[in-house]
Amino acid sequence: MKMSKMLMPTLREVPADAEITSHQLMLRAGMIRKMASGVYNQLPMGIRVFKKIENIIREELEKKGCQEILCSGLIPAELWKESGRWDVMGAEMMRLKDRNERDFCLGPTHEEVFTDIIRQEITSYKQLPLNLYQIQVKYRDERRPRFGVMRTKTFTMKDAYSFDVDQEGLDKSYQDMFEAYTNIFARCDLDNSPVQADTGAIGGSVSAEFMVKSEVGEDEIVFCSNCDYAANMEKAVAQSSEASTEEMKELKEVHTPGVHTIEELENFFKLSADKFAKTLVYVADGKTVAVVVRGDREVNEVKVGNAIGGVVEFELANEATVEAVTNATVGFAGPIEIKADYVLIDNEVANARNLVVGANKSEYHIENANYGRDFEGTVGDFRNVTESDKCTKCGSHFEIARGVEVGHIFKLGTKYSESMGANFVDKDGKSKPIVMGCYGIGVERTAAAVIEQHHDENGIIWPLSIAPYHLVVVPVNIKKAEQMEAAEKLYAQLQSMGVEVLLDDRDERAGVKFKDSELIGIPMRITVGKDITEGKVEFKLRDQADKELISLDEIEARIK
Ligand code: ATP
Ligand code: MG
Ligand code: MG
Ligand code: MG
Repeated sequence: MKMSKMLMPTLREVPADAEITSHQLMLRAGMIRKMASGVYNQLPMGIRVFKKIENIIREELEKKGCQEILCSGLIPAELWKESGRWDVMGAEMMRLKDRNERDFCLGPTHEEVFTDIIRQEITSYKQLPLNLYQIQVKYRDERRPRFGVMRTKTFTMKDAYSFDVDQEGLDKSYQDMFEAYTNIFARCDLDNSPVQADTGAIGGSVSAEFMVKSEVGEDEIVFCSNCDYAANMEKAVAQSSEASTEEMKELKEVHTPGVHTIEELENFFKLSADKFAKTLVYVADGKTVAVVVRGDREVNEVKVGNAIGGVVEFELANEATVEAVTNATVGFAGPIEIKADYVLIDNEVANARNLVVGANKSEYHIENANYGRDFEGTVGDFRNVTESDKCTKCGSHFEIARGVEVGHIFKLGTKYSESMGANFVDKDGKSKPIVMGCYGIGVERTAAAVIEQHHDENGIIWPLSIAPYHLVVVPVNIKKAEQMEAAEKLYAQLQSMGVEVLLDDRDERAGVKFKDSELIGIPMRITVGKDITEGKVEFKLRDQADKELISLDEIEARIK
């Protein structure tokens, strides 16, 4: 591509509203432009990188036997009602109506759609296993879009779904995807760690997130200093050395992170639903075990995090309980009069002021507490463990780091196949629900994470595998015929060799051209200057300081 013909609006200045390096560099390199908060358009330098990541994903998934399809982003509400998630998804799901007042959403994820496809096509065990994927735009009305394409309202996701006859099959599919993800991120030169993760609203039992350690990450990850234990803070569990009291022992049992039904909790606490919210919080061993009631009123399961020394996080479903809690929290907005035995933080009012916090002892409460000011962290950022806690696996101490979640894999089990009737007839003639897994990667976020790891003060340093172009040929002075002719010839020759090459034929000073190529992060540069009269050009790699004068016939050997 000739750069004089390209839309490549590089910026010298650091854009004022871009807080993190990858966001700044994507804007400065002319990869993306903002249209609205959390909504970006992709320009030529951007889309080439994103497409390369997509193609790496395709290649690695297809090696594992996955097949690509493409589903509609516009999804009828009926499918979500069948799975029970129409009411669960909350404000993040973008909903709309067609001209006949029928409900639709813009897909934030596609479990229901894939399950619907499969239930229509699969009848027998002979047709399984299957793994289907798509690379498609997702819509999520994020509460806090930020950091450029790291968290947007519309982004490209590769989402894959596996369909197996039994748990053993799912284990294999999950392992295959784990390996594919490891290979994908390795090919993007992204240093990452798979960590145990929470299954959240998607459901299921086992899940791993692929985390890129980075100060700008919005997740906290817990690593063991000694063994391979690694988990998202939401999921992390410490060895409890203080489990001395009966109370603590009991807590340990029930507070196994995971999804519990409201009945299970009621049973454990031996309480009826209406008392339940008032009793979950207490001080044990000097540490407050707090309860956070999140405002997602439609959630139909209760999720309990690890409680000891941390925060129990649960979401409510049961209408009666929701009512009880809602009534109990009257007073959020106004003066608080309740002397209740709980901490209540409603998702919707998490940023609001004047919460009641406390222990399950009357009068042990602080009124008008402010989240952030009086508690650490933000909603969704609860510390289950600290650096002084001990690893459950080996007893060594933990290290805590921030991370960017670039990929996430789940064993779903039969949640969707059961609710939506995706069954098959097994060898024994019995009808059984298909056992599913789901697997996501954020394409643009992956690119941003690569920039966070690969840059210097001059700009991006793309790994060759996902660079928008491999090489740029820079004639120092386009008005010098011998330079321009040699550069054009080289350009054609490199193209015929299959090198993705740019020719910087713009009428600019060489310094400007060098700055642009470094900012954009093109891995190799060949400068055609005065030495061309002796058949020599300057060769430089983006990630190295040295420049070397080489003869034209050496070029081929130098191209990586
Ligand atoms: P997060 O915890 O960051 O909100 P998530 O857990 O909601 O992400 P998943 O539903 O697991 O995301 O989606 C799979 C992948 O899609 C994520 O691992 C991430 O790479 C990407 N992704 C999710 N939300 C966004 C977003 N708003 N903008 C860009 N990429 C995203
Ligand atoms: Mg999210
Ligand atoms: Mg997440
Ligand atoms: Mg996730």
